[in-house]
Amino acid sequence: LDTRYILPHDSYLINLGHPDPEAIAKSRDAFIDEMKRCEQLGLQLLNFHPGSHLNKITVEECLDRVAESINIALGQTSGVTAVIENTAGQGSNIGNRFEHLRYIIDRVDDKSRVGVCIDTCHAFAAGYDLADHYDETFNEFDNIVGFSYLRAFHLNDSKKPLGSRVDRHESIGKGCIGIDFFKRLMADPRFDNMPLILETPDESIWPEEIALLRSFC
Ligand SMILES: [Zn+2]
Repeated sequence: LDTRYILPHDSYLINLGHPDPEAIAKSRDAFIDEMKRCEQLGLQLLNFHPGSHLNKITVEECLDRVAESINIALGQTSGVTAVIENTAGQGSNIGNRFEHLRYIIDRVDDKSRVGVCIDTCHAFAAGYDLADHYDETFNEFDNIVGFSYLRAFHLNDSKKPLGSRVDRHESIGKGCIGIDFFKRLMADPRFDNMPLILETPDESIWPEEIALLRSFC
């Protein structure tokens, strides 16, 4: 079993940027617990959504808290990389801009154990036009975050249009991103040798979606 390609997702209840001191303490404990579980299982990556400011603190204050949460978790574990997932920016979720990911990474002490997962549905819903501006979007990602931090993709099409900031996954090729983007991504050597995870809604067609994506390699 090659653990490099296993990317568990933490609990959706965890908010590492929570404005409330007691709530963030609980979230940090739960996150450390998940990191330790990965460590015990010999896994190297744990994916998580950065957090939400809940309209009580600024985006920057929330990002600061997320970075501090990662530092605390990395300080109590070893061998597991904290993988920040970009978000659609729905509600008060942060992490919808590449700059947010960069801001967090800049404040993490151990840069060898922090990384990023790009969710294609979230990026598109956040306003990154993967369909019509493939090169520009990935150049922007490389300039702001850097491919050296890219650890994985969540491959999802989007039910909602570009910039809608609504997080609704769609089956590959059946949403607003469209099949041409996925053809290009699968053939792009920059994204070889990393986990590509489907989070598409119709599990009855997962085998076909996987076969379709493999046919583009
Ligand atoms: Zn995702």
